[in-house]
Amino acid sequence: MGNGKCMAGLAAAIMICNLTGCGTAADTDRQTVEEEEKFLPETVGTYEAEEAELIGNVHRESNASGYSGEGYATGFEEDTDMCVFHVEISEAGFYDLNFYSASSDYKENYVSVDGDSMGTFVTETKEFGVSALSRVYLEAGEHEVSVAKYWGWIDLDKLDVVTAAPIDPAIYQVSAKLCNENATDQTKRLMSYLCDNYGTKILSGQYCDTGAFGKEFQVVKKVTGKTPAVLGLDFIEYSPSRVENGSTSKATEFAIQHWENGGIVTFCWHWNAPSKYLTGQWYSGFYKEYTNIDLAKIMNGEDEEGYDLLMKDIDAIAEQLLILQDAGVPVLWRPLHEAAGGWFWWGDAGADAYKKLYICLYEKLTDEYGLNNLIWVWNGQDADWYPGDEYVDIIGEDIYPGERVYTSQINKYMEAVNYTNPPKMVVLSENGCVFDPDLAVRDGAMWGFWCTWGSEFVAKNTSIFSYSDQYTEEDALKRFYENEAVITLDDIPDLGDYPIREE
Ligand code: CA
Repeated sequence: MGNGKCMAGLAAAIMICNLTGCGTAADTDRQTVEEEEKFLPETVGTYEAEEAELIGNVHRESNASGYSGEGYATGFEEDTDMCVFHVEISEAGFYDLNFYSASSDYKENYVSVDGDSMGTFVTETKEFGVSALSRVYLEAGEHEVSVAKYWGWIDLDKLDVVTAAPIDPAIYQVSAKLCNENATDQTKRLMSYLCDNYGTKILSGQYCDTGAFGKEFQVVKKVTGKTPAVLGLDFIEYSPSRVENGSTSKATEFAIQHWENGGIVTFCWHWNAPSKYLTGQWYSGFYKEYTNIDLAKIMNGEDEEGYDLLMKDIDAIAEQLLILQDAGVPVLWRPLHEAAGGWFWWGDAGADAYKKLYICLYEKLTDEYGLNNLIWVWNGQDADWYPGDEYVDIIGEDIYPGERVYTSQINKYMEAVNYTNPPKMVVLSENGCVFDPDLAVRDGAMWGFWCTWGSEFVAKNTSIFSYSDQYTEEDALKRFYENEAVITLDDIPDLGDYPIREE
């Protein structure tokens, strides 16, 4: 494996197999295939979109061909436009929601069940084709399944509700072997600890620019009585084009402090593009719209100066990572995040340029700088953007499902699990509202950790430290942090002598 196209093919094969109940694509594993063949999916309901409740601009049409029933629903143009299916379930359990839809191009649209956001389903064929939102738990009784505009521009034919295949427990048996064979013992100890807990426990996490004694950590502590296990930090202010404008940061010191207090640290890097490429406000220079950088040109050798500038930027971050290595701090390192979203400059030139930069970054930090304290968290968020198993230890997804949405996001979790074979550990590397750990355990969405973003997601924008319940209510946050499946700072053993897994 190891190239994105292969991975995409595999993910698609698994998806089709799940839909038809033939198990995973691992034909070589006869036992797995035989076991999964025992499960036969059953369609418990078919609902035509043209007969569903159509809201706003959504209306019935029958001009296109290939639909079932009397036509299809179309006209998803405004955020309030919806198609609501009234679904009747006789037996509580997990169901795949199989949506049949068509569009001229790739589209994603929102699905909610009884008002709770469940994720999105994909439309990518001009003919009516099926896309599943997997493993939705439905109690017996009537439910409202709503499709609402995200990208819009789809024709929606029908919804089949189908019993979902059971989760193969093997997806939680992930390897602790790091892709960098020279990883330090301390880094291996951390990965071993994460793997030992994966599948049964979930680490709590919180971004806080001002460290574990800063605002976000303190408001979480005030509400829950607990300190998050994982501190999320950002190398943003070490980017040379910000330093040139007077930025300073103590993120590295905060990381050392949290590690020395028994915690775990993760870093992202809102990489502010080199000054040469900034076209607007310098402090927004990680967004593509404030730069004119062409990563494809740089990675193809058509902009050598640009390449040198990027390498100098990497040098600046390597310096900080070396400080962490010298202090014995292993880092859950999540560079070049959310690339497939296309809003950051490193995702603007497509998957190939991004993968080249990711691999270049990996090789420079690992081989040139000898950084052996990094656990590489890939957060490209699309199988086509996967750089290869030899560069990735953990897969991260970032999900902001709205306000006070506590669903487990099992659909996205399973999608990420299926990026690789065998599966890697999957974490919720950024979130807005926090999911309910009870729902995650029920659904099997065993995110290795969550890491809530800072500011309004937990703290009010005031000088006094005050909790913001806009995204996660106080009672809910307290309940989540007290959940027995959740690891907080005081649950972490001494990682300094944690046994390294033999594999
Ligand atoms: Ca139809």
